[in-house]
Amino acid sequence: MPLSAEQQAEIDEQRSQPGQTLRAVSPGMEQHLYKAQPVLDHGFVRVIDYMGDDAAICQAARVSYGRGTKSVQNDEGLIRYLMRHWHSTPFEMCEIKLHVKLPVFVARQWIRHRTANVNEYSARYSILDREFYIPAPEHINAQSVVNNQGRGGVLEGDEAARVLEILKADSHRCYDNYEQMISQDGQDGLARELARMNLPANVYTQWYWKVDLHNLFHFLRLRADAHAQYEIRVYADAICAMVADWVPAAYRAFEDYRLGGATMSGKALDCVRRMLKGEEVTQETSGMSKGEWREFMGVLNDPA
Ligand SMILES: Cc1cc2nc3c(=O)[nH]c(=O)nc-3n(C[C@H](O)[C@H](O)[C@H](O)COP(=O)(O)OP(=O)(O)OC[C@H]3O[C@@H](n4cnc5c(N)ncnc54)[C@H](O)[C@@H]3O)c2cc1C
Repeated sequence: MPLSAEQQAEIDEQRSQPGQTLRAVSPGMEQHLYKAQPVLDHGFVRVIDYMGDDAAICQAARVSYGRGTKSVQNDEGLIRYLMRHWHSTPFEMCEIKLHVKLPVFVARQWIRHRTANVNEYSARYSILDREFYIPAPEHINAQSVVNNQGRGGVLEGDEAARVLEILKADSHRCYDNYEQMISQDGQDGLARELARMNLPANVYTQWYWKVDLHNLFHFLRLRADAHAQYEIRVYADAICAMVADWVPAAYRAFEDYRLGGATMSGKALDCVRRMLKGEEVTQETSGMSKGEWREFMGVLNDPA
């Protein structure tokens, strides 16, 4: 269970007291505010606060005195122009603050995105919960044979059962020892800041994470990508759904130019031009390496 009954009650209480404001409000985002969207077996992501909306991006781009918006069509055109031409600072005028509960090994990938503000749950001060990420059977895969940084087919039968058993047993044994070491029952009890080193990387942590929309899009571009590790991609997917409701026009532009688009090298672009003229281009005549050619073909035939 990602949330206890008390935690859910606190969220419900917070949502039951709407206030009045002169600030920009995104109706789509108001639906998400404070609610926890479950991710993985014990994780979640929830919006704690946000600033701005689609109009705020246009307002900043036009450096307006009032709301600065024109017609909806006009604003969407401007947002698409900004996204297309990497005029990114207007997107930085929108911000989001998330509360995320995630396994430590996912947090290690996430924290590499430095252009955000983070405050993590303190395992020096507090005792971590007995909560570990145990993958669902359909997400226990073999090592990929084509990509060293990826997974292949799903493990089956005895091997899958054995792996699951090892993951569960090791997690609980480590936690039993953690509890035993910090216990002050008949002993001094090891400091929490030391005892935590015995916990595995699938233990859950939590943080508040605040980021502007430009840097969030950069994060989502990398982590909602089909090649990102599944366990971080599901968080990125959940955030994408929230952003689509928060700033629909900006999200549509992001989906089109970044998520759905592709960057091409000069050589790749040259190949496309030659192909359009009817020339049969092969890897050997392309000037590209085998890897580059494979990825280029992937972009032309199947962007996923
Ligand atoms: C598929 C994949 C595989 C990866 N594999 C590995 C791996 O094997 N090992 C590993 O260590 N990491 C790996 N990473 C992490 C990756 O190298 C980046 O650290 C991570 O994606 C964060 O990207 P970023 O630095 O662009 O983001 P942010 O830290 O959010 O920075 C955003 C942008 O701000 C600028 N910026 C921020 N800080 C600085 C700075 N100090 N100096 C200059 N410019 C800055 C850069 O333009 C940067 O692109 C992987 C990431 C992905 C998506």
